[in-house]
Amino acid sequence: MFTKHPGGLRLLTVHAHPDDESSKGAATLARYAAEGVDVLVATCTGGERGSVLNPAMDRPEVRDDLARIRRREMEAAREILGVRQQFLGFIDSGMPGPGEPLPEGCFAAQPVEVAAVPLVALIRKFRPHVVITYDETGGYPHPDHVMTHRVTVAAFEAAADPDRHQEAGEPWQAAKLYYHLALSRSWFQTMYDAMTARGVPSAMGELLADWPDTPPALATTTRIACSEYFALRDAAMLAHATQVEAGVAFMAHPRDIERQVWPTEDYHLARSFVGGPAPGAVETDLFAGLRGAEGRK
Ligand SMILES: [Zn+2]
Repeated sequence: MFTKHPGGLRLLTVHAHPDDESSKGAATLARYAAEGVDVLVATCTGGERGSVLNPAMDRPEVRDDLARIRRREMEAAREILGVRQQFLGFIDSGMPGPGEPLPEGCFAAQPVEVAAVPLVALIRKFRPHVVITYDETGGYPHPDHVMTHRVTVAAFEAAADPDRHQEAGEPWQAAKLYYHLALSRSWFQTMYDAMTARGVPSAMGELLADWPDTPPALATTTRIACSEYFALRDAAMLAHATQVEAGVAFMAHPRDIERQVWPTEDYHLARSFVGGPAPGAVETDLFAGLRGAEGRK
């Protein structure tokens, strides 16, 4: 499977559920794929415990067959973005209510060290230069998102260690680890302000009013210009038909306004073996410091 660009740049993004790759960083993936980077999405779970969030799709035959339908949706989104995708085979943890235990055997109930093994094997096989995942809050308080962060950090380290998981392939040190800053409060605020300034009603006001108390956002170190790929991002998101309804608050904004006021997807550089922007500076390429080094391994 991993022979398409043996000498080129490789980008691995690790997500919790099918649809997360389309709602966070999808235009970045589409842009790098179009530029010839080998882009692989690793999806930790099958999204088996997701709800059907689109009323038009909320039918018994859909609910009963959700795992299979979500695989099909993932395949359609993958095709639209022009990337590759692999499931890591864990079971969705669902969103337990307050005080409710995690379902037995689910992804978030696994020991991190054990759950990291399939990703260690994938990193050693695919040999990404850059890895992207969520920050330690998960970006969204779902146990699978927090677990995805933990597992990715563990696998990023373990994959490079020749003494660990020797059965999982030759060691590989990815050069950089990034965290998503997608769907941030400042993004919603900027979109809301721009819409109201132009007299466009915005449902984002409600989201902002209910915004939970969250720790201050990580510094933006990296902005990827990708507005040309917003249409592909939107199409990929809508391919997850059980998970999204056209017109939900985070999609219900005029794209021309978005292209004007926030034409990038943003990241925080969490680890780097090839340097990074000076404090306060912002880089514009996930592969900064790696260009021209494609053929090195
Ligand atoms: Zn998710």
